[in-house]
Amino acid sequence: MTETVTSRLDGLRRSIPQGIILVAVSKFHPVEALREAYDAGQRVFGESRANELVEKARNLPSDISWHFIGHLQTNKVRAIVPHVDLIHSVDSERLLRLIDNEALRINRSIDVLMQLHVAREETKFGLTPDEMISLLTPQFIGSLKAVRITGVMGMASNVDDERRITADFREIRHTFDILSQGTFASHPEFSVVSMGMSHDWPLAVAQGANMIRVGTTIFGEREY
Ligand SMILES: *Cc1c(COP(=O)(O)O)cnc(C)c1O
Repeated sequence: MTETVTSRLDGLRRSIPQGIILVAVSKFHPVEALREAYDAGQRVFGESRANELVEKARNLPSDISWHFIGHLQTNKVRAIVPHVDLIHSVDSERLLRLIDNEALRINRSIDVLMQLHVAREETKFGLTPDEMISLLTPQFIGSLKAVRITGVMGMASNVDDERRITADFREIRHTFDILSQGTFASHPEFSVVSMGMSHDWPLAVAQGANMIRVGTTIFGEREY
């Protein structure tokens, strides 16, 4: 049997435990591939480029929940804010303020995840656990008007060593737990731990992910 987006999505859904939100990462794939996933019931899609997200949002049904998962440049905030439900990749106070101002301006409320940097690679974006914990004071989150911080996102080191990957996911989850018992203790909306991709999501789920971002397993290899 040839594999299709539908069959791969069905297979994946059967292997994901209940209660875990699947973000179908559709970056670089054509609208037709997303349409097939949509027809198979998928409603949450993740994109990593602002222009591509906007273009796809305009060409697909309006009940799709669009997540922005890539590095967000400040000059792209205005373009995506009308379309996204969740931004996974906020890693500075400046970016958070910009999103807040823009959402306020168009009278929208936007949820964001704060991106953690725990992986060994130098190139990855995100705040270290210490930086994040110091930034997210009650005063600071109380000053946001149109943005709700609903959790954290992170990536494990890009290695084969499963112990290393597991340790990275454990650190992300641990940082979430510190925040949810501290600054966010009276904020039940702070509930999302977004971690795990095609090759490592089972390890992420074992460490307490409740949102996973899977592209290749559903749509096949990307052409850059
Ligand atoms: C591309 C991407 C993914 C999905 O990666 P796959 O290996 O194709 O599952 C997940 N998260 C982020 C941040 C990405 O950029």
